[in-house]
Amino acid sequence: MEKVIIVRYSEIHLKGKNRGYFEKQFFNNMEKALSDMPHIIRKNSGRYLVEQFADEESTLDALKKVFGCHSLSVAYKVESGIETIYQAAKSVTKESGSFRITTHRADKKFPLNSVELSAKIGGMLLEDYPDLTVDLYNPQFTIFLDVREEGYSLIYSEVIKGAGGMPVGTAGKGMLLISGGIDSPVAGYMMAKRGMCLDAIHFHSYPYTSPAAREKVEELTRLVSQYAGSIRLYIVKVTHIQEEIHKNCAPELMVTMLRRFMMRIAERLALKTGAQCLITGESLGQVASQTIEGMTSSNSVVESLPVLRPLVGFDKEEIIERAEKIGTFETSILPYEDCCTVFLPDHPAIHPKKERVLAEEEKLDVEGLIEEAFQSMEIVRF
Ligand code: ATP
Ligand code: MG
Repeated sequence: MEKVIIVRYSEIHLKGKNRGYFEKQFFNNMEKALSDMPHIIRKNSGRYLVEQFADEESTLDALKKVFGCHSLSVAYKVESGIETIYQAAKSVTKESGSFRITTHRADKKFPLNSVELSAKIGGMLLEDYPDLTVDLYNPQFTIFLDVREEGYSLIYSEVIKGAGGMPVGTAGKGMLLISGGIDSPVAGYMMAKRGMCLDAIHFHSYPYTSPAAREKVEELTRLVSQYAGSIRLYIVKVTHIQEEIHKNCAPELMVTMLRRFMMRIAERLALKTGAQCLITGESLGQVASQTIEGMTSSNSVVESLPVLRPLVGFDKEEIIERAEKIGTFETSILPYEDCCTVFLPDHPAIHPKKERVLAEEEKLDVEGLIEEAFQSMEIVRF
């Protein structure tokens, strides 16, 4: 018996006139996710069927990461007939417990109507498995029979939750500021889930930060790209900026000032590459630099793009839970320095004053430092 995967999509339904566009993006994203595996994807009345795959588990795993998917089922596909449907139902049933059969009959030429077919197959199962009972209202499991117009039927029992959200590519592009920490990969995931394509920028302070720290960020970007599709990662050196701040400015403002440089560089890059917003992993009050004053200070240097902070209201615990679920946590906790920990003052300013920050910045050649950072830029594609 042939196995197929039924892929149902979610919020796409809501999009009315745009529906065709959303469906096409969803289809392309599934194609990309399965590109290195054998498969055929067919549109099938408001959902998709993935057929002729080689390995069920890896195919399902890849499909579970495609946003826009509401749920999935692995189904047997058989020629429509009582005996063939029954054999498939036997393959998906449990041997004991309460069950019901739910039939959808699109093929009006099939000799039994849906109620009759449910009763027929249910009766045959009860005969073969004495420990089964029927419970129409609160069954332990349900067997679904879908008798298609095309002459075949789909039979399945499990319904697996999909990734939800909107297809990546339907909501513009964002520039993710990615560190090696737990939060920013999750922030990227959250925006991709809303349909946004991503590029990413990472700042390092080599030789104060190690090549291993950079590899970790590359790996995190690769993990996020399993959900977000292809990502260009821009790697930018800010060692000279930190050294200049360290040499010339008030030590307690190190992090605040560095953040402002990061935001300026990220915005300029975004404008050059067509990204329409910046995305950070900040969460209110999580650390000294993530007070509302800290965010105001780094926000105020961004001139024309919104800064999205999808984790702003999340607890650390909630972020960790999500990181574990999406598979970035183990990599995020590898112990490598982030550039923000280089020259870290003992007492970073928690409520940086605007006038103070501006006065300290006066001491630096802001434009020259940004220009030098752009010179160092490398690009890695995922
Ligand atoms: P994360 O877990 O994402 O590292 P964090 O809790 O360590 O976040 P901060 O170090 O205050 O918080 O960083 C806040 C945000 O600033 C990060 O989520 C990220 O978006 C951005 N950021 C911090 N360091 C870097 C870096 N080296 N390169 C790019 N972005 C960075
Ligand atoms: Mg960090």
